[in-house]
Amino acid sequence: MPGFSFECEYAKSARATCKQCKEKIDKGALRLGLKVVASLDGEEDAAARQQAHAAESTKWHHADCFPQVRGAAWFRKHLPESVETCAGFGDLAEADRARVVALFATCRGAAPGAGDTPCKTPHPGKKRSAGAEAEEQPSGKQARVEAAGVLTGEQLQAIEVTKAELSKKNAAMLGALLAKNGLPKTGRKEDLLERAAECRVLGVPPTCATCSKARLKWSRVSGAFSCPGFFDEEEKRFKRCKGPGEGDDLARTPWQELGA
Ligand SMILES: [Zn+2]
Ligand SMILES: [Zn+2]
Repeated sequence: MPGFSFECEYAKSARATCKQCKEKIDKGALRLGLKVVASLDGEEDAAARQQAHAAESTKWHHADCFPQVRGAAWFRKHLPESVETCAGFGDLAEADRARVVALFATCRGAAPGAGDTPCKTPHPGKKRSAGAEAEEQPSGKQARVEAAGVLTGEQLQAIEVTKAELSKKNAAMLGALLAKNGLPKTGRKEDLLERAAECRVLGVPPTCATCSKARLKWSRVSGAFSCPGFFDEEEKRFKRCKGPGEGDDLARTPWQELGA
């Protein structure tokens, strides 16, 4: 039975064409790949393996075109449970990981009308250099497409209201607010807003009890906590952590306002 594998990466060249809108994918642009993986169970024959291999070339798409490639039901069946297992995900910048999480949620039909919107090709224009890509992300679309994941409609709405309220603050104030709650303050203002609003509504994820160093990360898609690891000051290297362990306390701590 054939399976599918998903990849995400920054385009290594400008040669690939989006299989959805047929336009070029700029070098350095975030692109999503879909690959048919033929199951080779029992295929001992070299020719059959060769054939299967030929069918394995990755089809690339603009990140924003990707949700239109297949229907929501197909995506719900074939997308990986956890976006972290998508090849290349770990190598993306934090803002783009959030973008892929949001895109996968859109693929599964989280946003109304997803799948039948025409390709708006919000990818950067041809005159821009690949280096400018990072700050040229089409944030408008990302802002509209929210990753619902395991959140209830009520929680999503509360987060939206909180975001609108917090958006009056500038990035420095948001950063201070996040730091007060022990949360990372890196990213664009949109990322800071999302992070602050989510933790203000749901509470702040606890520190990992396994390493007692890093604050746990929570995936809106899977609803699971994971430890991002930490930088060991003594050994001067980054350490991975398998936390949280079974029985670790995962209770969120209440959000703290500045000056409180
Ligand atoms: Zn496209
Ligand atoms: Zn840990």
